[in-house]
Amino acid sequence: MTLEDDLQSAVRTIPDYPKPGILFRDITTLLGNAQAFRRAVDQLVHPWAGSKIDKVAGIEARGFILGGAVAHQLSAGFVPIRKKGKLPHQTVRMAYALEYGTDEMEIHVDAIKPGERVILVDDLIATGGTAEGAVKLLRQIGADVCAACFIIDLPDLGGADKLRAMNVPVRTLMQFAGH
Ligand code: AMP
Repeated sequence: MTLEDDLQSAVRTIPDYPKPGILFRDITTLLGNAQAFRRAVDQLVHPWAGSKIDKVAGIEARGFILGGAVAHQLSAGFVPIRKKGKLPHQTVRMAYALEYGTDEMEIHVDAIKPGERVILVDDLIATGGTAEGAVKLLRQIGADVCAACFIIDLPDLGGADKLRAMNVPVRTLMQFAGH
């Protein structure tokens, strides 16, 4: 069994959630499997082992779980990117595209010093609207976004290519066709 099959079988698929036609890729089963969780984090950080990463930025909420583990593994700090209105100190805000309409995300204005090397983490990239907003937010406060990593890529939706077009290297551990 390849690593990809092993990890991929740890992801649970829920049809028609949160609405008809969506195949929801549920990573709670992977997170709850000690071996799969460890392997996923090890594989995500592999390209940066031994290189200097200052901060890992995680996108609310599943990006917090993975991002915290990735930050620990890289001896980096962790920075949360949150939905608007949740962070207590002065923030910078960015609108981002959802399937229908837009929403806004925020980061503390002093969370990253200009020039710091940052890796962005979330569980899954679909259309890339969320991650694109996060990259713009990080760059706005001066981050050097070295990479974005995700457990799951839905390549048919084009998000990873969108990030690559912004000069952000993308690492993903598995792909699912469709959306
Ligand atoms: P997007 O902005 O389209 O790349 O969507 C990415 C965000 O939506 C991530 O935070 C994912 O957790 C969530 N998401 C989008 N599609 C799915 C899906 N099919 N299964 C699980 N989560 C999804």
